[in-house]
Amino acid sequence: MSRKYIIAGNWKMNKTPEEGKELASEIASIVSKDATVEVVVCPAFVALERVSQAIESSAVRLGAQNLYPKTSGAYTGEVSPEMLRAVFAKYVILGHSERREHFHESDAFINEKVKFSLENLLKPILCIGETLEQREAGETLDVVKTQLLGGLDGVDASGMSNLVIAYEPVWAIGTGKTATPEMAQEVHGSIRSLLKEAYSDAVAAKTRIIYGGSMKPANADDLLAQPDIDGGLIGGASLDSKSFGDLIDSARKLS
Ligand code: PEP
Repeated sequence: MSRKYIIAGNWKMNKTPEEGKELASEIASIVSKDATVEVVVCPAFVALERVSQAIESSAVRLGAQNLYPKTSGAYTGEVSPEMLRAVFAKYVILGHSERREHFHESDAFINEKVKFSLENLLKPILCIGETLEQREAGETLDVVKTQLLGGLDGVDASGMSNLVIAYEPVWAIGTGKTATPEMAQEVHGSIRSLLKEAYSDAVAAKTRIIYGGSMKPANADDLLAQPDIDGGLIGGASLDSKSFGDLIDSARKLS
C-alpha cells in the first residue's frame, strides 16, 4: 500500500508528566527507529515536554490534543501552535467528538484551527463521526460529509498532504463497541470518494483516513486490513504500552 499506516495514541486527560514520560519511554523502546508505521503519541499539554524528551531518539512522533488558532496574546488557558512546535510537536488532534460535545466546537471553529495549524506547520488529525442517534436515523454519511467539508473548507491540495482524517463513530468511542470492519470500510470509502470530488483522484489516493472507536489488539487486524483504513486513533488501548505495541505490530504486519 502506498499510504503509510499511522497509529496515534490519544491519551486524553490521563497521565501526569512523570507517568507520561514512563509510558512514552516504553513506547520508544518498542518502536526504536523503525518507521515502517508512523507512531504518534498525544499527551496532555503539561506532559508534552517530558514525553518529547523521552521519544527524542526514536521514530515516535509527538502530537497535541488541541490548540488555539492565534499566535499569542490574551487567550487565558489556551496554547498556540508556536508553543507546540517549541516542544517538537508535529501533529494536533482537532475536532475530536469530546471537544465538539463538551466544549461546543463548531465545524467553522474547527476549520479555523485546521487552517491555522497548517499555516503554522502542524499536521492536523481531523476527527469526524456520527452519534448513535444520527446512525440510527440513517444520517451517518450526511453528518460525515458536513463535518469533512466544513473542517476542510479553504484547505488546498498541498494542505491535504499534511493532514490526516480520523473517522470516529461517537457511539464507539470509549464504549467498547466497535464498528465492524465492513461498517467502518463503508464510511472510509465514502470519505475517500468525497475527497475525490472535492480535490482529485491523487489527493484522495494519498490522504490517510484512520479509524477510531474502541480499537484494540483483538479487533485491529480486521479493521486495518480494510482497503480504506490507514491506521488508528486510539484512546483506551494507547494508555498501556503492551496493547499499544500490539496495535503497532498489527499495522507493521500489513505494511
Ligand atoms: C478516541 O478518543 O479518539 C478513541 C478512539 O477512544 P477509544 O479508543 O477509547 O474508543
